[in-house]
Amino acid sequence: MHALFDERRYLIPFRASLLPQIFCDTLIVGSGVAGLRAAIAAAEHGEVIVLAKGDIRKSSTAWAQGGIAAVLGTSEQAVRMHVEDTIDTGGGLCDASIVQSTVAGARPRIEELRRWGMRFDVNEEGEISLGREGGHRESRILHSDGDATGRELVRCLGQQVQRTAAIRVFENCFALDLLTVSDGDNSPVVGAITHHPKYGLQMIWAWATIIATGGAGGVYRETTNPAGTTGDGIAMAYRAGAAAADMAFIQFHPTTLYVAGAERSLITEAVRGEGAHLVDRRGERFMLGAHPMAELAPRDVVSRAIIDQLADTGDSHVFLDARHFKPGFFAERFPGIAAQLARFDIDPEHDLIPVQPSAHYTIGGIHVDAEGRTNRPGLYACGEAACSRLHGANRLASNSLLEGLVRGEITGRTCAEQREPGNGPRTPKRIISDIALSEHGGLDLTDVRSSLRSVVWRHLGITRSGQTMSDVRDMIDFWGRYTLDKIFDDPMGWETQNMLLVAALICKSALWRQESRGVHNRRDFPDAREAFRCHDLWRKGQSEPATIDVPTVATGAPT
Ligand SMILES: Cc1cc2nc3c(=O)[nH]c(=O)nc-3n(C[C@H](O)[C@H](O)[C@H](O)COP(=O)(O)OP(=O)(O)OC[C@H]3O[C@@H](n4cnc5c(N)ncnc54)[C@H](O)[C@@H]3O)c2cc1C
Repeated sequence: MHALFDERRYLIPFRASLLPQIFCDTLIVGSGVAGLRAAIAAAEHGEVIVLAKGDIRKSSTAWAQGGIAAVLGTSEQAVRMHVEDTIDTGGGLCDASIVQSTVAGARPRIEELRRWGMRFDVNEEGEISLGREGGHRESRILHSDGDATGRELVRCLGQQVQRTAAIRVFENCFALDLLTVSDGDNSPVVGAITHHPKYGLQMIWAWATIIATGGAGGVYRETTNPAGTTGDGIAMAYRAGAAAADMAFIQFHPTTLYVAGAERSLITEAVRGEGAHLVDRRGERFMLGAHPMAELAPRDVVSRAIIDQLADTGDSHVFLDARHFKPGFFAERFPGIAAQLARFDIDPEHDLIPVQPSAHYTIGGIHVDAEGRTNRPGLYACGEAACSRLHGANRLASNSLLEGLVRGEITGRTCAEQREPGNGPRTPKRIISDIALSEHGGLDLTDVRSSLRSVVWRHLGITRSGQTMSDVRDMIDFWGRYTLDKIFDDPMGWETQNMLLVAALICKSALWRQESRGVHNRRDFPDAREAFRCHDLWRKGQSEPATIDVPTVATGAPT
């Protein structure tokens, strides 16, 4: 990685004292499930500001289809099975205590959502209806409006936030960087510098800052993520000295609607959970011989089987076959997907649905402890931006909304409880960022962005190899040399700088991890290796990662 990736502390030059000043107790960057749930918890102890870089209703959370994995009853056996399924999917890297506390923490979070007015789908007896997805041995996925769980979740949490006087939400407010008085490890994060199209640059001071900015799927050309999922939070935390962990692990979703030239959109795993088959162009089910759970095998297994299938046949996509569903069932259970398919004249009752895999979920992220603390004082993280070690090397379907709810609440509560209400940093700190003007020529940003996304998709995607990743590293370094030394004045430039940094971290971690494990699959190292059964943590200025070993956990579930 070129030295420039580590040299920049801030994306822009500024003098803190000359900018408008805003104060709060807890600043939360991100308004998805993790940010909103953390805000509600933190607001019990002080004033909270929540930032969204766009509209609060636009986030991965709002797009979530399948649902929330949760054990609702009090059965210890049911909790144990959910824990086992999570660990068995996680390729040997899950932190068993984080898994246990997250799974066991589901019930109170779901109960409060129901109290706050969240509408879950119910069966004919009026009980919550539970779906099943890949890697789950039991039906335990709660959903809303069929395939619009995320939209209903954002509506419910958004309404609860509105009811909470101590929370202010700033939409269209782009966080550029976290503020620290010095670069020393003990210098706390004291807020963020933000940009709003109407109000310009602003300093938001807080005694605790939570990054809940979601993942980085947008660095891939093929992705299920909404535009703007550019890894900003991971990049700004890294610039401020936080450790980025397990960045090699990017989960690919096996079934994204493939219509050449159209935007990719997800076909939820729940469609397979309801019994749809994956077939090749001749209509043959190729998952039957690939895994005992066939179409419901963990996502990495299904994604790889599809990629192998495409390599063997030279086809661009495979198909989902739901033609055997009862008449009317698909449209009733998956109304959003049925409407999306109808736009391309695909009728799932009569037609095969063309699909291919694409980047879906960022498993790695900002390294946090069990309470959401990073290695920087004053800085916390939760949700997809964080690496809590819940998912290990592979995420079990529908565990991320659960993570956002459970770990968001813990993180919001922890950071708020550590300080008395109103005892925030009421005086601005003296922070000056000076950046010399670049002497290098510039590159076309749109070109850099689309070339980066293509290269990352091709060579840091579902299968990887050391040689091509070294070439990718050189390309990212080249684009970085001519882009990271510039000063931009709008989100397009800042996002591109963040994407380059995050792509460089994914590449660095994937090159270092000389093995195949979970979603990280290397042709040159096809097996998991004991030496890499650890988490890799990358900090600025360090060429080798710090590692954290993972104790062996035995479960009885099939892998
Ligand atoms: C299509 C799709 C379907 C999915 N289906 C499911 C499912 O059924 N079940 C499940 O468990 N998971 C699902 N997932 C994954 C899940 O939705 C996400 O992992 C989860 O919602 C992430 O929540 P989050 O709060 O961490 O971040 P997000 O929901 O991604 O929210 C990020 C927030 O950060 C803000 N932000 C980002 N950068 C900045 C910045 N620089 N300044 C200010 N604000 C910023 C954004 O505006 C946004 O508000 C799905 C994901 C996708 C894309």
